[in-house]
Amino acid sequence: MDIRSLTIEELTDQMTALGEKAFRARQLYQWMHEKLADGFDEMTNLPKELRARLKENFTYTHLEPEDRRISAVDQTEKYLFRLPDGDVIESVLMRYHHGNSVCISSQAGCRMGCRFCASTIGGLTRNLLPSEMLDQVYQIQKISGERVSNVVVMGTGEPLDNYENLLRFLRLLTDEHGLHISQRNVTVSTCGIVEKIRALAEEKLQITLALSLHASSQEKRRRLMPVANRYELSDVLDACRYYFACTGRRVTFEYSLVGGVNDTDQDARELAGLLMGLNCHVNLIPVNPIQERDFVQPDPAVVQDFKNKLEKYRINVTIRREMGRDIAGACGQLRRRRKEREEQV
Ligand code: SAH
Repeated sequence: MDIRSLTIEELTDQMTALGEKAFRARQLYQWMHEKLADGFDEMTNLPKELRARLKENFTYTHLEPEDRRISAVDQTEKYLFRLPDGDVIESVLMRYHHGNSVCISSQAGCRMGCRFCASTIGGLTRNLLPSEMLDQVYQIQKISGERVSNVVVMGTGEPLDNYENLLRFLRLLTDEHGLHISQRNVTVSTCGIVEKIRALAEEKLQITLALSLHASSQEKRRRLMPVANRYELSDVLDACRYYFACTGRRVTFEYSLVGGVNDTDQDARELAGLLMGLNCHVNLIPVNPIQERDFVQPDPAVVQDFKNKLEKYRINVTIRREMGRDIAGACGQLRRRRKEREEQV
């Protein structure tokens, strides 16, 4: 049993089953989620015999930092972590005026197949455990020595394809006896798994939902995102409306602009029509070119034009500032390069 994925209630039950007092569960929880210990041996106020029994009964997940790259341009940091079973995942620390934000992976690899994304090229290896998602944030806070105030689940993987573990992760991350990150400072990004968006809405968390849209029509979306073969665009948007109705949280739509593919005036007009009346925010992201595909960024003037068009239709829109270009490349590229290197030897 993975002890770092248990809630305080579950941990209390486990301790009782071992014949321990309830306060031991609180001590343990504090070591795991507040003091961010890397293993039982650090828990010096627990008796040696108890630590030995814990080792016999539980696994303690912690990630090994493999690589850390710091951008000379904007101090963004990219981390590569080794999982207990040997695979690697990547996470990013971004520094903003409003605080430090960590972008985490939710799966090792991904099976969604978005055409412009590097994370999906090798397919899905496996889901990450709640503890493996948490420890990305914990390790970065420890290594950087700076408090993390925001978390975005926008790294490798489709979080709603790992739904139960994601929910557990969110609860532990925002728990008042852990890092206690405000739910309002957490964003989960999805390619649009309709029934899971609806389920998440019913959890009534105060987190932000980001929906990867990338196209303004069903046909165009299908060409960029295979997941669109499973869900109609209108159903995806209905689920987003439902999310807003249940949580009162404005949905963010991500739109990666690809030169000559989805960046025309007509695209902007259609997009505005699609989002009319929806309480939302649009994030335009000039596509990050990846080695394996020949997608290109539109000219900056085209990007600005696209934004102006949307604003004319009174849509809230921002252009995402690109960060850490010199250290990382697009989403999933660092992991991919590392895996290629390891497969050659
Ligand atoms: N699977 C989730 C979260 C991970 S991807 C999702 O699809 O939302 C996070 C965001 O980065 C998504 O909007 C995704 O479409 C986008 N993205 C992936 N590769 C990209 C690239 N090369 N350039 C720009 N955006 C990219």
